Amino acid sequence: MTWSTTTDAAPTGAGPLGDALSQLDAALAHLGLNGGTRQMLATPRRELAVSIPLRRDDGSIAVYTGYRVQHNFSRGPAKGGLRFASNVDLDEVRALAMWMTWKCALVDVPYGGAKGGIAIDPRTHSLPELERVTRRYTSEILPIIGPTKDIPAPDIGTNEQTMAWIMDTYSAAVGHTVPGVVTGKPLSLGGSLGRAAATSRGVAHIALMAMTSRGVDPEHATAVVQGFGKVGRDAARFLSAAGVRIIAVSDVDGAIYDERGLDIARLSDHADRHGTVAGFEGTEAIDPASILTLDVDLAVPAAVEGVLTGANADHVQARIIVEGANGPTTREADAILADKGVLVVPDILANAGGVVVSYFEWVQANQAWQWSEADVNQRLEEKMTTAWHAVVGYAGAHSLSYREAATALAVQRVTDAHRLRGLYP
Ligand code: NAD
Repeated sequence: MTWSTTTDAAPTGAGPLGDALSQLDAALAHLGLNGGTRQMLATPRRELAVSIPLRRDDGSIAVYTGYRVQHNFSRGPAKGGLRFASNVDLDEVRALAMWMTWKCALVDVPYGGAKGGIAIDPRTHSLPELERVTRRYTSEILPIIGPTKDIPAPDIGTNEQTMAWIMDTYSAAVGHTVPGVVTGKPLSLGGSLGRAAATSRGVAHIALMAMTSRGVDPEHATAVVQGFGKVGRDAARFLSAAGVRIIAVSDVDGAIYDERGLDIARLSDHADRHGTVAGFEGTEAIDPASILTLDVDLAVPAAVEGVLTGANADHVQARIIVEGANGPTTREADAILADKGVLVVPDILANAGGVVVSYFEWVQANQAWQWSEADVNQRLEEKMTTAWHAVVGYAGAHSLSYREAATALAVQRVTDAHRLRGLYP
């Protein structure tokens, strides 16, 4: 177990962490804060790197590296997803943890931010191998997680089964069942109705408000969705149900196009059967790299970070981008899109529905009470609508982009908490 305490704020660099730090710097400049505040907010409160030895099904041993970064606790326990992907590294996890702090503050749930990851490709491992990796990782990070400390949730490459294993491993270690240690659990283990689709429901809700604000009628709008996983698939479903014509969808294996609009229910069946959207009958295969630059009203990147860059942002034709993924737009792309007048709804607002309903799940777990799905969805829409109007109002009042406004609002709330709590000792 390696504990790291960083004393200097990380410099602004490349990749997601560079983007996150430059967003923080813009917010601090707007708020007139700097110096020690920047150092406090740029530096994660706690970082843990662990090695995870795995006995593979064939008897060989492999060793993976896992991380848990807790960026901030000022407004409550840390909260954030757990990612399984081969390119996970510490700087990516740091960026994602920082974005979680802003997201939780922006939608006003009583959490700080965290993120975890293991550098492993889940697609090349069996289910029993993934269970062993998850349980070993959980036992390695056990001292720093818990329902009052840090509450993991699903992210890329993980799902409700992963959360069930974490909950079971944690519960076995402490000697009693603790449903509040994770969110995104299966319903039968205390998961919340509405959680599985919450991020996507929030993305669609925000996208529809963004369209309305730009005078785009959803019934006559077209959209593309990049990524067809937990976020992209249901975002496409909700948008399609609202009348939006989804003309292209992609995943890591390919991209498909049909200008008449894709049948999302049939596409979901195809993806379940084949593990990819590629090859969906009646559609044209297109270059996955082109999906975000197609001529549509709305583009929803819902896969990975850094997909809208200085190299392709100028080719974007969409009028509105709603960030289902975390960090899909680099700072170079942000500047280009702003110049082009493209409305970018930032991740910390657009995809916050997941953490909002995770919060509801945690509340239900802690109270041993289950809310109806209608209740969950209604409270989710209220939270998202409130955050949307806060961002739109603040952006208008201060002539900021929605990303700058959202980050400034969040940073202000976190620094307010810092100030009120004071610096100990
Ligand atoms: P997932 O693993 O369920 O799905 C990821 C999807 O992206 C898959 O379809 C995969 O094939 C595709 N993909 C991966 N790399 C790609 C690439 N280079 N190009 C195109 N497609 C690619 O993950 P998810 O939970 O849907 O997460 C997607 C994004 O949404 C991530 O940025 C995640 O951090 C963010 N997010 C997720 C949640 C949540 O509740 N799951 C909440 C907020 C934000």
